[in-house]
Amino acid sequence: MWEDLGVALEKVDKDKLKKKPDPDKLGFGVHFTDHMFLMKWNKTDGWHDARICPYQDFQLNPACMVFHYGQAIFEGLKAYRGKDDQLFLFRPKDNFERMNNSALRMCMPRLPVDKVVSALKAMIYLEKEWVPRTEGATLYIRPTMIAVEPMLGVKPSSSYYFYIIMSPVGAYYAEGCNPTKIYISDQYVRAVKGGVGNVKTAGNYAASLFMSEIAKKAGCTQVLWLDACEHKYVEEVGTSNIFFRIDNQLITPPLEGSILGGLTRDSVLKLAASWGIDVAERRISIDEVLEANGSGRLQEVFGTGTAAVISPVGELFYQEQHYIINNGKTGELAARLYTELQAIQNGYREDPFNWVVRVG
Ligand SMILES: *Cc1c(COP(=O)(O)O)cnc(C)c1O
Repeated sequence: MWEDLGVALEKVDKDKLKKKPDPDKLGFGVHFTDHMFLMKWNKTDGWHDARICPYQDFQLNPACMVFHYGQAIFEGLKAYRGKDDQLFLFRPKDNFERMNNSALRMCMPRLPVDKVVSALKAMIYLEKEWVPRTEGATLYIRPTMIAVEPMLGVKPSSSYYFYIIMSPVGAYYAEGCNPTKIYISDQYVRAVKGGVGNVKTAGNYAASLFMSEIAKKAGCTQVLWLDACEHKYVEEVGTSNIFFRIDNQLITPPLEGSILGGLTRDSVLKLAASWGIDVAERRISIDEVLEANGSGRLQEVFGTGTAAVISPVGELFYQEQHYIINNGKTGELAARLYTELQAIQNGYREDPFNWVVRVG
């Protein structure tokens, strides 16, 4: 099997395997599995030297372009242990296709999607003992591409590494499924149309840290970003997309270039529509949200993303004012979507959209 993929396998010696972490204290992205996937790209050979090898440090020249100009893209997906102890992935091809869109924007090489998905499945099978058995815990998968040419000119690198590392994770938010407090910034912005807000590139996250720290000091877990031109329209929240339910309509901002097109966002839109819920992708201003909340028409707010799946919002903090949403409780639709998506991802529910891929 390994040879068919053109992927070499270099296994960790049995006596050198890591001790598994306490399944009840996994945290997020702290522990890493025994193996990783790695392949390299250059102009003459294209992608080559693909292998599943022991998880290891890289030795990189300090001039490597990724360290200076941030030519780096990544993805985030999960492996789930579900029905009959089987392992599942959720829409993995879509993640790597999105990564190829990111690659295009960042002048990086495209991935052979089918091959990479096959290699990922093989690696998860090899690491199957790392997929947690605890309820809600999963194996988080982080595909990453970095520019490794050692050269200080500002131009696209002529060589890259693509690698996949995996980390067993517990619930994403420390508060668990409790509604979060969200800070709305009317000062700092995340992305502009024509920029790279719709690309999963490293620099976006570096740029968001300053505002995140301000939010944390104010007792909030995430930042809700407004558009960069008018500081008026809602964009997204932290590393999640955002949804509002007003008068039974489910509303999320449209993908117009500054928002990351989340796969969870897309799945929620499709699931909700299939249940007969009125869904709308349209611009929504923060004034409209707060006005709807004031008049009792805002039923619930939640974020969507692979890490947390659905994260209900219990409170908004905007211009020194606190706004309580839905009495600070998880909304009915958020709860239904969370349960349904988890059941699909774990193979317990019929999968009407063919999202789930079995491993092994
Ligand atoms: C990854 C990400 C999301 C969510 O995407 P999913 O595919 O649902 O995990 C939303 N916003 C940003 C900025 C992201 O980086």
